[in-house]
Amino acid sequence: MLSVILPAYNEEKMIAVAAETLSDILDKAAIPFELLFINDGSRDKTWQEICAARERDSRVCGVCFSRNFGKEAAMFAGLEKARGDCCVVLDCDLQHPPEKIVEMYRLWEQGYEVVEGIKEDRGQETGFRRFAANAFYGIISRATGIDMASSSDFKLLDRKVVDALNALPERNVFFRALSFWVGFKKTEVTYNVRERTAGVSKWSTRSLIKYAITNIGSFSSVPLHLVTVLGFITLFISIVFGIVALVQKLNGTALGGFTTVILLLLFIGSIIMISLGIIGYYIARIYDEVKGRPRYIIEEYRG
Ligand code: UDP
Ligand code: MG
Repeated sequence: MLSVILPAYNEEKMIAVAAETLSDILDKAAIPFELLFINDGSRDKTWQEICAARERDSRVCGVCFSRNFGKEAAMFAGLEKARGDCCVVLDCDLQHPPEKIVEMYRLWEQGYEVVEGIKEDRGQETGFRRFAANAFYGIISRATGIDMASSSDFKLLDRKVVDALNALPERNVFFRALSFWVGFKKTEVTYNVRERTAGVSKWSTRSLIKYAITNIGSFSSVPLHLVTVLGFITLFISIVFGIVALVQKLNGTALGGFTTVILLLLFIGSIIMISLGIIGYYIARIYDEVKGRPRYIIEEYRG
């Protein structure tokens, strides 16, 4: 059986459409399936829509979060609740073309354990978003050593992979990178991102920046090493200035220089502040992990 995991946040208009489209496609392809909607604390009628869809078709299941925990948490809740031999994660706004699932499923039947959905083009995105996405993917690709630029959350995972992901203890999860990290036999299918047919994108620029920082932080300690690098750079500069100062002292020309002192103080001060900030950020992350709170809280489950 195939489990289709659909995180949904304020998607009341899309639930019925998604459920129908998917069951049509999968029925035609004779693939046994369940549709697992995760209501990520929506403030509209998303949950009622999911329950209604379940009434029409018992292959629809639903998980309802007690509040908005974010798409990452929703996807992992889906992986945990899924009963299928393989799982597909799909945006329930159907921007990921559902027909591709059949292609992915056939590849899985051939023995592939991870089938990545690779974006051929990124759909309609404004200049800034495109730039920010490129920067984010540049950093995260370097940090993880995996090319992330065209990857997405749209992928099919074998049961083995799902179990491996479910066994990960960390609280702050980044699905896209973790499904690379676990390894297994991989292949790809390419797709074009579609226009949204109803509702609006849930990502504001602010939430995207937060998302980027969290995920870089959860996958890389490069910023911490940056602190060390900054330390060495300032050390080098201080040595140069120190020698200059000493030479001036010995020549007897060591007067004035007040501006230099101020500038140096400010410069070193700000470097220290930034470095403390970065270290503080990681301590906060450690604190979060140590608290060991669950990734999400389920209020209701239908299935
Ligand atoms: N989503 C979610 N929780 C959130 C934000 C988004 O479950 O906090 C879901 C949303 O319902 C959709 C998918 O994640 O199914 C992708 O969101 P969206 O379409 O807003 O992102 P975009 O396609 O604009 O990147
Ligand atoms: Mg979308």
